[in-house]
Amino acid sequence: MTTITGQSFIAGQWVSPAGKVFHSFNPYTGETFNSFNSCGADEVDAALAAARQAYGEMRAMCGGSISDLLEAIADEIEALGDLLLKTCDAETGLGLVRLTGERGRTTGQFRAFAAIARKGEWVNASIDTAIPDRQPVPRPDLRRMMRGIGPIAVFGASNFPFAFSVAGGDTASAIAAGNPVVVKGHPAHPATSELFAVAFERAIAGTGFPAGVFSLLQSADHKVGVELAKPPIVQAIGFTGSLRGGRALMDLAAARPQPIPVYAEMGSVNPVFLGPNTLAATGDAIAAALSGSVCMGTGQFCTSPGLAIMVENAGFEDQMKAAMDAAPRGHLLNPGIRDALHAGIERLQSIDGVDWLTEADFEIDSMTPPNAVFKVSGDAFLAEKQLAEEVFGPVTLLVACRDEAQMLEVGESLEGNLTGSIHADDDPELAGAVMSLLEEKVGRIINNGYPTGVEVCSSQQHGGPYPSSSVAWATSVGADAIVRFARFVAYQDVPENMLPAALKNSNPLGIFRKLNGELTR
Ligand code: NAP
Repeated sequence: MTTITGQSFIAGQWVSPAGKVFHSFNPYTGETFNSFNSCGADEVDAALAAARQAYGEMRAMCGGSISDLLEAIADEIEALGDLLLKTCDAETGLGLVRLTGERGRTTGQFRAFAAIARKGEWVNASIDTAIPDRQPVPRPDLRRMMRGIGPIAVFGASNFPFAFSVAGGDTASAIAAGNPVVVKGHPAHPATSELFAVAFERAIAGTGFPAGVFSLLQSADHKVGVELAKPPIVQAIGFTGSLRGGRALMDLAAARPQPIPVYAEMGSVNPVFLGPNTLAATGDAIAAALSGSVCMGTGQFCTSPGLAIMVENAGFEDQMKAAMDAAPRGHLLNPGIRDALHAGIERLQSIDGVDWLTEADFEIDSMTPPNAVFKVSGDAFLAEKQLAEEVFGPVTLLVACRDEAQMLEVGESLEGNLTGSIHADDDPELAGAVMSLLEEKVGRIINNGYPTGVEVCSSQQHGGPYPSSSVAWATSVGADAIVRFARFVAYQDVPENMLPAALKNSNPLGIFRKLNGELTR
């Protein structure tokens, strides 16, 4: 039986720091429970010193040992059983069904990265053999592969307490690439974070890994995160959360004497383009499914569709209003997100030309917000940049344009997004133009579907142009998430016995490699 102690976990030791006290918050009851102490600079230093040491040891390890650890972590997460689900539900209000699914996704990610590390092909090995008699100069023997970069700082989001938090994809992919991880725990689910640290503790002990491979620093606020981003030992940051938080870390990382990459997955409005003929034919079905996507998880998804762009259509507005009114109210995660939602709704209401079609009460201390659909004209949208900002919660804005040309103008005005969706089967010309526009603006284009629900697989792209992500080419979901925490090293004229296994002539790993430009085993 595991009880919540309120401690942080630093390189195999449970510690009780002396910093600010904070508590778990139950969104169902409004009560606080458990008690945690915030870490400070001393705990950051201790975690990073141990991580640096672990990195040295991990560089000598084979992919198989790292896979053993990742698999053991997945097993230990499952062994926490209902305690993990119930603790997290009490801290987030996400419900046991959703959390059971998210746990499967989380352990699935660990096992997928275990398989990737064991296979070893992710290192992208390439060999160009020497040509000693090449004229006018001989060609040296050059071999290149990706290697882990060192300690990684991970910041998780409140809305994915499993899949994008302590044991999320950033942690799994960073370790799979051979790096230790120091996680700054999210203050919205500290007991959940502590339980994950218990799973890591057991897995690390069971596999004999260096203790510094994982630390969890609990904290009430930004301070520890800011301290964690600065030391030279940290070589990259994985972040999931708000644009405000991600941008603060990007600026901090860029201002360091040695700037480091920040892989920040941030907010997004995920525009949905609705062709006029398609809406005339299937508006009812689109309203039902779109409102379902907006309200899913009380709208607390980075992929929630916050913007629907169409040609003026009063009938569809009524269909959306009815569908959103019919959807049950859900729970918000925490008071911070509630306050931000209040502010977002007030901001929308204050902008000229914006109508709240489903106007309803939203008491200042209520954790169950109304499902809200707003409407604005294309002209008014183009005149007010704030309307393209994420309002995190069950909220969407219908942009009623004059014509298809204005729909495209609205699309052109948008910044980078994680996703963009098209419903235009009966509007083929518009569909082509929107597709071309979205290729520039988003990471994932969805045809006749909705953006919530992110499949975890090799072909997934979860990341788009700024401000949805800090690095547009990177994905935080799927196999390629691993390369964010690695860099290429080339070996010139290095003898067989000193080469990493992936680059040896004998190819002991049996992996696909590029040999003089041809893919071969
Ligand atoms: P958040 O408030 O930005 O928090 C994320 C993490 O960053 C927390 O650990 C937070 O800790 C820390 N942080 C925030 N501001 C910071 C600052 N200025 N300096 C240092 N650390 C800082 O985000 P959230 O409310 O948990 O999550 C909701 C947001 O995440 C939404 O915008 C959603 O769209 C986005 N999200 C994106 C994705 C994606 O994959 N793109 C996935 C899920 C969620 P403290 O609070 O202790 O400072």
